[in-house]
Amino acid sequence: MPRPILATIHPAAVQHNLERARRAAPDARLWAVVKANAYGHGIERVWEGLRSADGFALLDLAEAELLRQLGWRGPILLLEGVFEPRDLELCSRLSLWHAVHCDAQIDWLAAHKTQVPHRVFLKMNSGMNRLGFTPDRYRSAWARLNALPQVDEISFMTHFSDADGPRGIAHQVQAFHRATADLPGERCIANSAAILRHGGEGEVRLDWVRAGIVLYGSAPDHPERSAADWDLRPAMTLASRLIGVQRLQPGDSVGYGSRFTAEAPMTIGVVACGYADGYPRHCDTGTPVLVDGVRTRTVGRVSMDMITVDLTPVPQAGLGSEVTLWGRAANGAVLPIDEVAQAAGTVGYELMCALAPRVPVVVES
Ligand SMILES: *Cc1c(COP(=O)(O)O)cnc(C)c1O
Repeated sequence: MPRPILATIHPAAVQHNLERARRAAPDARLWAVVKANAYGHGIERVWEGLRSADGFALLDLAEAELLRQLGWRGPILLLEGVFEPRDLELCSRLSLWHAVHCDAQIDWLAAHKTQVPHRVFLKMNSGMNRLGFTPDRYRSAWARLNALPQVDEISFMTHFSDADGPRGIAHQVQAFHRATADLPGERCIANSAAILRHGGEGEVRLDWVRAGIVLYGSAPDHPERSAADWDLRPAMTLASRLIGVQRLQPGDSVGYGSRFTAEAPMTIGVVACGYADGYPRHCDTGTPVLVDGVRTRTVGRVSMDMITVDLTPVPQAGLGSEVTLWGRAANGAVLPIDEVAQAAGTVGYELMCALAPRVPVVVES
């Protein structure tokens, strides 16, 4: 028998979450962001659930090729544009739309030989200071692009640094609109947090939105709001089983570094899941976990292949009992990935992307 750990992908949940994002940003076309292999879920596993999206946004050319092989004929947007000049040949061949964020990318386009002009998204650095032209350099970049025969329609995009937090997006929205005011073209600025929190505002929703994490059922602004608050459903369940049970006496300690010591007699379960499966090692005693669908906590350190859990709330549990690390248990109980991420000092994004290759994955039918 294989090791009992298993990840299950829920395409119906992805579809539900997509509809949820659409409701939050009515009238905008929606990019389903599927970079990083659909945030660790697998493009091949989720893309059918996302078919009603208006396009797919990603950044790896191999993933764009995969989507075309799977039969997607609609728009695909390369969020970081091309990485070297010859990538433009693939853009021409597969009719990929691409971001343009720096002068070198404009130079490469100017030297590119193509029959079909490219649809591009000119990226503004409106304050995040990763990619893009600053507002004062944006217009001249647009003029250069607009003069190229290799370029078809030019759209405008920027990305928010604080859509999920107290600083908010107003300063970036303002910078974006000021610098693009009289330029003709479609506009796209909202990520998941902006869609959920500001999708009702016309100056944020605009022509397109970019929905990423929301599709996978994690709240972009956890812990301020939970996935349940936003009516999002987990797209991934990571589950395993108990492979051992230990009875502890007061003073007995558990695991590497003896980080947990029993104060009273208690029973703990040993779960076939560790950091080599993608479960975060930073989760200390107290991280939530479901055993037979009942909420309990981890005790002691996460090791490579095992974690240990407190069985006090589930006295009937034993060898083979179901353990839900995140997602949905057989009894319907949900453990949000965001709560596990919080216990590890990180975000749901990282956990889903870090699911380890050794974990078998099935798609719920
Ligand atoms: C990843 C990404 C998104 C999606 O972000 P979420 O927070 O997952 O919605 C949107 N835009 C760009 C440019 C991105 O890189």
